[in-house]
Amino acid sequence: MIGTMLHIPSLWSHLVDWLSSHAVVPLLGALHLDGLSGDPRDIAAALLIAALQVGIIGLVFRPLETWFPAERWSDRNLTLVDRNYTLLMLLGIFPVFTYLVLMPFSHLFGGGGNDASSPASPFALVSLVPWFQDHPYALFAAYYVIYDFVYYWMHRTQHALPWWWALHSMHHSQRQMSCWTNDRGSLVDGFIQSMILATVGLVIGVDPDEFAWLMLLGELVQNFSHTNVRLGFGRVLDRVLVAPKFHRLHHMLLDPARPTLHNCNFGQVFSIWDVLFGTALYGEPARPTGVSDPMVDADNNYGLIGLHWVALRRFWGTVWRLDGWKLGEVSFDAHYHPFHVDHVAEHESGHAPGTTTAAHSAPLGAPAAETTAG
Ligand SMILES: [Zn+2]
Ligand SMILES: [Zn+2]
Repeated sequence: MIGTMLHIPSLWSHLVDWLSSHAVVPLLGALHLDGLSGDPRDIAAALLIAALQVGIIGLVFRPLETWFPAERWSDRNLTLVDRNYTLLMLLGIFPVFTYLVLMPFSHLFGGGGNDASSPASPFALVSLVPWFQDHPYALFAAYYVIYDFVYYWMHRTQHALPWWWALHSMHHSQRQMSCWTNDRGSLVDGFIQSMILATVGLVIGVDPDEFAWLMLLGELVQNFSHTNVRLGFGRVLDRVLVAPKFHRLHHMLLDPARPTLHNCNFGQVFSIWDVLFGTALYGEPARPTGVSDPMVDADNNYGLIGLHWVALRRFWGTVWRLDGWKLGEVSFDAHYHPFHVDHVAEHESGHAPGTTTAAHSAPLGAPAAETTAG
């Protein structure tokens, strides 16, 4: 267990036990959910990890937005929905999902395979490379690299596969990208992503307890990379790790003059994948964030529930059509059906993007942000 490595295991497990027996177990009992296969300690651990995460976002990342903003906003109204959603996800939905779905799923397939003598999966890293057994930090780092590689390709698919973009576009529709934006995303999208990553975890033999720490580390890096702060890590480190500057470019609005520029910087924690696979973009000043498709930009008119509802309508209007499975960039018509767009062809023929149909005359309102170079 990673806790053992950090020499804080007893403090941590005491905290988990205390929260579990004083809050989680009584609550599950009151809700008649105590007979299920999950372990209440998993909920307690997820809650503690979430509290840690919210604390770091609120006490470190949020002040940085005030002191060194990449974009200056006259108000932060649009960020509120993301903040509320993050609190709901971290303190409610995620712990419950971990308890009801993720952990039982993991136990069902015999998760927890750090014991090389009886590995749960034939592809468990410790059985493939026994050296890792005595080098837990290297093992943790190796897990991370594999995870991040999977994440990179998953993320590219989220952009290229129209029905998945129908969901992932909810993450991109935010015009005020902030330290709270990371968790903004359709629950269906979140479910698909966590099942993929949990499966990868099982295959490479990650212990379920370690899985939570892997996730926390990844989440924190991502919370930071969405933070509205003008910060890079310098020429060399920027090629290895995802900095706020780097991910901000991934969220840029379409530039009609350079119509492929926004297809960049898909990495989650490591930017090496973008460098290796030719999708890295460096040296651009911060640009306004959001989406140019008016049907998706309209997300900004909704609260939490409305936001989910329209993302689901896009998903439903896409997943049942052939066009929804054909790789490429799409926009959505007034019926939430996808149509393929080729911004390069539009640019070359002198058309502004979105003028192909009457329903797409112009983006609904440009981002209300003033971009400061940096
Ligand atoms: Zn994306
Ligand atoms: Zn993002």
